Amino acid sequence: MITGASRGIGLAIAERLGSLGARLAICARDKARIEAAAAGLRKRGAEVFATVADVTRPADATRLAEETSAALGPVDILVNNAGLGSFKPFYEFGEADWDSMLDTNLKGVFLVSRAVAPEMIRRRAGNIINISSLAGKNTFAGGGVYCASKWGLMGLTGCMAEDLRGHGIRVAAVCPGSVATEFSGHSGRDPGKLLQAEDVAHAVAAILTQGPTSFMSEIQMRPVAKP
Ligand code: NDP
Repeated sequence: MITGASRGIGLAIAERLGSLGARLAICARDKARIEAAAAGLRKRGAEVFATVADVTRPADATRLAEETSAALGPVDILVNNAGLGSFKPFYEFGEADWDSMLDTNLKGVFLVSRAVAPEMIRRRAGNIINISSLAGKNTFAGGGVYCASKWGLMGLTGCMAEDLRGHGIRVAAVCPGSVATEFSGHSGRDPGKLLQAEDVAHAVAAILTQGPTSFMSEIQMRPVAKP
């Protein structure tokens, strides 16, 4: 299950995991775009369940987990990827901006993971990978609200890992620097010098193909070229 997989990093992860033989459950808010993404993945040979779901809504998170189990069976791998970013000095943000970024990047991970974890615990198996950011490790001007969401996500991820490792479930954070996608915040930067969505998909695949008795809890990613 990959949230926010209609484009960008989420779609690249879906393509990569599909090519490794995974059956895919994908969601996003825009119906036309998630259906187009599903059609593309099916063309590449993957079995896909696609639905419109907003990770900030508890009822959507529950429905996503239930419908995925019904369509494809229990979830083995959850990639919490859906996220929003907006960048300017903290004092210029309204409360609604704070709520939408924190609700998507942090509360959404809690809601979807909470919906999926009980079945993983019952089966004593599973992987949860949270797409965080170097903004979850660093601070910078204009990053206040986004950094708050991703620092919070790093704390949540570490605690989820401790809650679940005794149940045979591995939890990891992937922390990329800037990635060339439609995500905001890259204006004026050469996309060729940024990370590519496929680089992040590679890191996700590396975590998932790690031997079963250990886990990579965190991967930080930087481009070789200085942007
Ligand atoms: P994009 O904006 O390209 O894609 C975001 C995806 O998330 C879309 O599919 C979008 O679809 C979906 N989405 C957004 N909000 C919701 C929601 N509430 N419920 C369900 N789906 C949602 O972003 P990226 O691919 O670049 O980013 C993916 C993740 O990677 C994010 O968590 C981001 O913070 C992180 N990241 C990105 C970096 C970058 O520079 N691009 C760097 C480091 C981390 P729709 O709008 O239809 O819902």
